[in-house]
Amino acid sequence: MNIRPGTIQLLGLPQDNNSSYLTGPGKAPQRIREAFFCDSANLFTESGFDLGDKTLWADAGDVALENLEGQQAFDLIFERVGALIAAGHPVLSLGGDHSVSYPAIAAHAQTNPGLNILHIDAHPDLYDDMLANPFSHASPFARLMEGGRIGRLVQVGIRTLNAHQKAQAERFGVEIHHMRDLSGVADIRFEGPVYLSLDLDALDPAFAPGVSHHEPGGLSTRQVLDIIEGFGGTLIGADVVELNPLRDQNDVTAMVAAKLVKELMGRMLRA
Ligand code: MN
Ligand code: MN
Repeated sequence: MNIRPGTIQLLGLPQDNNSSYLTGPGKAPQRIREAFFCDSANLFTESGFDLGDKTLWADAGDVALENLEGQQAFDLIFERVGALIAAGHPVLSLGGDHSVSYPAIAAHAQTNPGLNILHIDAHPDLYDDMLANPFSHASPFARLMEGGRIGRLVQVGIRTLNAHQKAQAERFGVEIHHMRDLSGVADIRFEGPVYLSLDLDALDPAFAPGVSHHEPGGLSTRQVLDIIEGFGGTLIGADVVELNPLRDQNDVTAMVAAKLVKELMGRMLRA
């Protein structure tokens, strides 16, 4: 079936073998889809788009990552995301742990040199090295910044900056809105295309308990929704990562993830 260019493609990236602490996010894409279509909610975005309209988005399925790791997994994600972009589709990826964002964003940066990244997370994910795994979910933004194709990297919700990652942030010129001072967040503006990478552990564990790394003192669901809707710039791609269904309670985090996916779609449709 030919899908009209411009149709948002939802792409599952069920990989969790680059996680440093727990596995589980590999089961997330299917849980987010189930929550997305749960009969407890309708398919309208807050901005008024009806996501029941099948001309607005399509499900591209999951990338077959089951038996892949390292460079092989990177290459397959890069290729699949790149092919959707080349066909004219905005891509919204469902992790997986945060390692999947490295190839997904690299594919976007290849066709959009100087791509800006808005990264919402408890963690800066800037480790030069974590457990000797260059593809670690703690390192995707170090790898991306080393690649030289990224414009600005703006991080929101950070509350775990250690000395090493502080040095990495300074090395790469990362702009950090720490959780303890969100005063500038309402004024985030970009020139040119923006990719939004959303790690669900940016939210307070009270709102999103189904993540591998509980980091108290985080964002509310409403604050994340306000950032998605409020930043200045053109959203061309996004991901929602790090749902761990094995840690969820009554599917509350899966519902949060599905809600954020809906509103990210709404923001993409506005562009
Ligand atoms: Mn995180
Ligand atoms: Mn992360």
